[in-house]
Amino acid sequence: VTTEVQRHPLSKCGTYLPSIMGKHPELGEVILNLPFFMQISLWANGEKMDMIHSKIRNYHRVLNMKNGHLARSFVYEAKNGCCMEFIWERFASMAHKHLFVQRVTCHVLSGTAELEWRSGIDADITTNGYRHFQKLDFYEEKKAVSCLATTDLNFQVLLKSTLQFSGQIEEPMVRIEEKQINYAWKHSVTAGNEFSFCKFTSCGCSRDLDGNFFKTVPSELIYAEQNGYAVLLAESEKEWSRLWGNADVQIDGDKALQKGLRFSIYHLLRSNTGFDSRVQVCAKGFAGEAYYGRYFWDSEIYLLPFYLYTNPEAARSLLMYRWYTLDGARKNAARCHCRGARYPWQSGLTGDEQCSLWEYADNELHITADVAFAVMHYYRATQDYDFLKEAGLEILLETARFWLERIDRDSSGGCHLLNVMGPDEYSPMTRDNGYTNRMVKFNLESAVQTAQFVREKSPEQYDALRQKIGLSEEELKKFREAAASLPIPYDSKRDLYLQCADFEEYGEIDINEIWKDRDKPFGFYASQEKIYRSKCIKQADTIALMTLFPQEFTDHQVRVAYDYYKPMTTHDSSLSPAGHSIAANRIGRAADVEQFLHQALKVDFDPEKKGAEDGIHIANCGCLWQLVVNSFAGIVPAVSTQEFTVKPRLPKSVTRISFHLFWHGTQKEVTVSKDEIKVEPVK
Ligand code: BGC
Repeated sequence: VTTEVQRHPLSKCGTYLPSIMGKHPELGEVILNLPFFMQISLWANGEKMDMIHSKIRNYHRVLNMKNGHLARSFVYEAKNGCCMEFIWERFASMAHKHLFVQRVTCHVLSGTAELEWRSGIDADITTNGYRHFQKLDFYEEKKAVSCLATTDLNFQVLLKSTLQFSGQIEEPMVRIEEKQINYAWKHSVTAGNEFSFCKFTSCGCSRDLDGNFFKTVPSELIYAEQNGYAVLLAESEKEWSRLWGNADVQIDGDKALQKGLRFSIYHLLRSNTGFDSRVQVCAKGFAGEAYYGRYFWDSEIYLLPFYLYTNPEAARSLLMYRWYTLDGARKNAARCHCRGARYPWQSGLTGDEQCSLWEYADNELHITADVAFAVMHYYRATQDYDFLKEAGLEILLETARFWLERIDRDSSGGCHLLNVMGPDEYSPMTRDNGYTNRMVKFNLESAVQTAQFVREKSPEQYDALRQKIGLSEEELKKFREAAASLPIPYDSKRDLYLQCADFEEYGEIDINEIWKDRDKPFGFYASQEKIYRSKCIKQADTIALMTLFPQEFTDHQVRVAYDYYKPMTTHDSSLSPAGHSIAANRIGRAADVEQFLHQALKVDFDPEKKGAEDGIHIANCGCLWQLVVNSFAGIVPAVSTQEFTVKPRLPKSVTRISFHLFWHGTQKEVTVSKDEIKVEPVK
């Protein structure tokens, strides 16, 4: 759903703050692309330097994932033959979250040139083709240029930039235009000259939690000017190194996997605030406008495990978001005339449904049970009882209540979930989707068990919650009955778990014949209408279920399901390949493990595929982490058991994996190789 055909410039850029959303008349709440401040433009003797038309050689672009430092180096030859060797560097400070730092360094190799520069803040920006700024103010004060933008949801964002030069330079001029504020300066250079300058930008908004942004933005900018590039980089690096210390996974033997996994961890680290429960991590990792900055089940099922085992406070914060948005979820349940809480398929500021397509908004129900699953996953891995009694239990009870109303009864009183879209979004109106039903059973059972547990441990608090939400004993009994009655479609003759009860009734479709070019999604070659009535699968569904409850399915059942669904699965969703690699590893299909692993590694980390052009597929990053930690190193998820077990299944290319893991409040060091498993407390 987009309002305009996307321009496809060579590189896309944007400025996103996780909680700054705007209102689009048709799309609802969308993350805003804010005024852009990174552009630094250069003219040499009147010729604009750019990467397409100018003579550029020795170009290198290096992202240091250890500290988030990006450097581009190249030699630029101006039309008059003047050669300049440049390094353009930049980083967002991990230590000072308001600060962004840039530096340009130049060594003139030969010739002479008149250089003209321009850089400032550009607010001539649209989000998906729509203008969201209601008011723009530009001003210059204390040698800094500023832009104050007021959005159509009445949030304010302040950006302030300043320049610092290494040598003497004529005072830059400030130019204010309708939607831009810029510095402009000139100087001449000759062979042997060296010069550099820094641009510091401080950015804050009316939703900041760390004080009044009108004060923090300028004071952080002063801090940057006073301390300079090297100190700022060292401080940021220190913070990055603390984060990596808990999150890194060392893989011996497979360099491509090591690099790809670190790339994923890098994005998981940079896209998470770690403390702000008003936001989660959006489907594009806050690196693009696709999916409008919204939160999906990706957070609970694909991302949460990484945070839970490497930074439990960040995991708590992700789940507290669901508690703070319970009212939105209640409203969403009421939209379908149900009691309780129903989490929206696409969530934003409040937890109201943001998805504008009915089949997902109405039928993709499993997100609600996924949240309940994550609550229990978090509790079992952390034993954080305060969370459970203060937030988790209310989520479990209100969601269970919703299920009771959403469930239909057959003529003998049996429970069913009808008209459901499971994780496989190519079947939108199915009967008893196995994944959804199993998760709902878990949701209902967990509500009953946790209610009993908290009632015994903290009777007063339990009573207060019971009164707050008007819960009766009768309801708990009904939760139990419904959980026992909901079917998980299964064909005993084939030992096959069916994706949904009516799966076999869908039409046969010759996927190989239709799918001409496998570099494009299958959905490109078949209409939605055809897909919706055919046996083709967008992404892991039954396979995803088997990964979440590994102990409930025998290896034989996983093998049967894997072989049955694989030819129908198109992996049109990036959430699919890594999950399939996990299943293949369980049943010893080494070639498939490798093939799906490489497919997953290429989702964002392959320049040819351009997968990252609209943002990072952050759920795939989380699933790759699960593939390495849960499957290769064999840490069995903690949801169904109280203890974790280590049953490694290393692929041939990997000789050793080591990482740190939080478990029940203490951190362990895990090392797994072909002939040893070591789990020790971190000293
Ligand atoms: C997938 C969903 C996912 C969403 C956001 C869709 O293409 O089918 O499962 O939640 O993308 O990542």
